[in-house]
Parts: sequence; structure tokens; C-alpha cells
Amino acid sequence: MPPNTPTPPAIDTTPAQRVVAGLSKVALVFRHAQWAASGERGLTPTQAQILAVVAGNREPRGVGVKAVAAQIAVTMGTASEAVGALVEKGLLRKEPDQSDGRAVVLTLTARGKREAARTTEWPGAIVEAVDAMPESERATLLRGLVGMVRTMQERGMVPTARMCVECRFFRPNEHPGTPKPHHCQFIDAPIGDADLRLDCAEMEPTGNDADTPTRARLWEVFVNGQPLDQHGPGRNGRARPGVRASMSRRAVSESLKGTSS
Ligand code: SF4
Repeated sequence: MPPNTPTPPAIDTTPAQRVVAGLSKVALVFRHAQWAASGERGLTPTQAQILAVVAGNREPRGVGVKAVAAQIAVTMGTASEAVGALVEKGLLRKEPDQSDGRAVVLTLTARGKREAARTTEWPGAIVEAVDAMPESERATLLRGLVGMVRTMQERGMVPTARMCVECRFFRPNEHPGTPKPHHCQFIDAPIGDADLRLDCAEMEPTGNDADTPTRARLWEVFVNGQPLDQHGPGRNGRARPGVRASMSRRAVSESLKGTSS
């Protein structure tokens, strides 16, 4: 090496560690925004998360404290304490569970609904940074995050997510070579990697009946780029039997145009 040539810095971290370092920067901004937003409203981040979970609940019988604790990955004690504070603040209501007299379900008061709508807003700084990415990079990032969430879910590190890659309506790679290679049977329309959902209200777990692929099989074809079969759903504009008719179909379709959560 000629004299005065600067020594290149040693790379002493693995690729995984460098990705995690990047994620930790994003998490820092996320935490800061959460504390700032919830603090302005006199809520802790846990209380704000509970409002968002109760607002997003689709179970007709309501959501209990245990389910809330699982969704936000806190202990029952932490969830119970935060729920008590929210009840005192007039944002949550506890009602007897119709199917289990000893249990209670949580519902939002009118004020709680207004607060929940504000707490479910994503931190603007992070949304702007993601928006600034080229579309192809955003799609790749989302695909990678889906894989990470799935792995962490398998290891019991995060609550079960309502993701496309575990949904009975998802048909990966049904339209190979097109910008939207996958298919959502629920809306009977093609979807791309950038449209993959991590929390879809209409998601139904796959593999719960003989007509749907197992969870492992769905993931395998998603990763390997093969369609599930040669006569996939939604081809020629046809949906397969078993796809529910619902007004929510339009909601999923609209949200796929506008968001990717
Ligand atoms: S958009 Fe929703 S309904 Fe459609 S495949 Fe994804 S999770 Fe399932």
C-alpha cells in the first residue's frame, strides 16, 4: 500500500447487526413520537396502544383484558393497570362478557373513540421517510418486514398478526411477471408486494379447512415465486367458492390503494 493511503475502516459487524442498527434508529424516532403524542393527551404509550387495540377489535363479543395484553405484548398486570386508568379518564368502559359472566369486555366511550382515532395516526416523520423511498425499495422493505414479523411470531416474540401471508384469501404469485403478482381472493384483485398487509381486518387464517393451503405451504410458494396451482383463483375474473360477500370488500380494496399496514 503506498504511503499516506488511508486504512479502510474495519467492518466488525455482521449484515444482520447492521440492519438491526438501522431498525433501532427508526425505533428511536417511533418511541419519541409516541411519548410526545401520548404525553400531550395525558396518556402513557401503553394506554394509547390499548385504545388503538380496542378500536381495531372486530370480534362481535368484544375484547377482554387478556387479549389486549397479548396484542400489545405486556403482562396482565400492566394491562389491567392501564385499563383502570383509562376507565377513570372516561375513555374506556368495562362491561360484563355475555358469554362468560365472570369476565369483562372493553368498549370505547365517545371520548375514547375520538382519542383512539388520534392515537392510531402514524408518526409523520417516519411516514415521510418511507414515502421518500422509491416504490420498488418500499415494496422490498415491506416484504422483508413481513418475513421478520412472521419469524418473530413463530418464536412467540410478537402477537399474531393479521397478515396476507397467513390468510386463506391470499394466493401468492398467481400473476407472475406482472407488477402485482399476487391475488387477494377477498377483493378478487391482483396485489403486489407493496400492497401486502400486516394488519388486515378481513384476514382469516389459512389451513383451518381442507380447501386452503397450510400456513407453511403458503409461505413456501410466496418465497419461491411459484403459484399454488395452475388454475388459480380470480383468473378470468372468477372468484373461488367460499369467498365471502361483504361490504368490507370495498374497504379492503380502498385501503390497499392508500396504505400498506
Ligand atoms: S388483503 Fe386482507 S383479505 Fe386480502 S389476502 Fe391480504 S389479509 Fe387476506
